[in-house]
Amino acid sequence: MLDLVLSIRERYQKTLDAIASSARKVGRTPESVRLVVVTKTHPVEVVQAAVEAGAKILGENYAEEAVEKILALKSQSAVEWHMIGHVQSRKAQLVAEHFALFHSLDSLKLAQRVDRFAAQFGRRLPVLLEFNAGGEESKHGWPASNESRWSSLLTDLAAIVSLPNLEVRGLMTMPPLSTDPETARPYFRRLRRLRDFLAERLPQAEWSELSMGTSADYKVAVEEGATLVRVGQAILGPRHETESKRA
Ligand SMILES: *Cc1c(COP(=O)(O)O)cnc(C)c1O
Repeated sequence: MLDLVLSIRERYQKTLDAIASSARKVGRTPESVRLVVVTKTHPVEVVQAAVEAGAKILGENYAEEAVEKILALKSQSAVEWHMIGHVQSRKAQLVAEHFALFHSLDSLKLAQRVDRFAAQFGRRLPVLLEFNAGGEESKHGWPASNESRWSSLLTDLAAIVSLPNLEVRGLMTMPPLSTDPETARPYFRRLRRLRDFLAERLPQAEWSELSMGTSADYKVAVEEGATLVRVGQAILGPRHETESKRA
């Protein structure tokens, strides 16, 4: 267990250092980027070790799996849990109750459901809107690859911004998978342009957060303005469970 904590701590610190140097490279402060350690598929013991190693924000993809871990680690009140995966309508209540930030809100219908549950829990839930910047069929989020169609998204997005129990804070994306981090750069730039577009048209929301970048490309994401990076494997090592089985 101690070995596990030490090795996670070393990789966590290395990731923080890389974030800081990418931020400085483009004239940003390291504090302007928050590191979300993605713990999906890892058992409670590994999550516990990540917390002992210094992780402050934990990201999970599957609501039920996450809630088990949240309840098991309830004494760790200093950590913040973020939902980063696609949420089915019937899991909306779990998200409204248990998470500090919902990165992957991807439809008006889900927004309305989460808003109703947030009201029941007496919360105003911070959310990010997920966009499909690469236009892939397999990805969730509002289509964002065709910039001339951005205006057509405004009706849905304005309705979400006006929901009383959600607080829209920014945007999230998951670009096409690639082994070359530079491949992701144009998608990150597009998300930032989309943020500027929305901030101008829907100024009643905050739009300050950009959640983008994973183990493969978080340094590029920070150079392009990410305020939240979501890193799993580079800190916790490979996941053993196949994701397709669970999606
Ligand atoms: C799994 C996942 C990550 C982390 O990916 P790694 O390759 O482990 O860094 C980030 N974001 C989302 C939405 C994910 O599903």
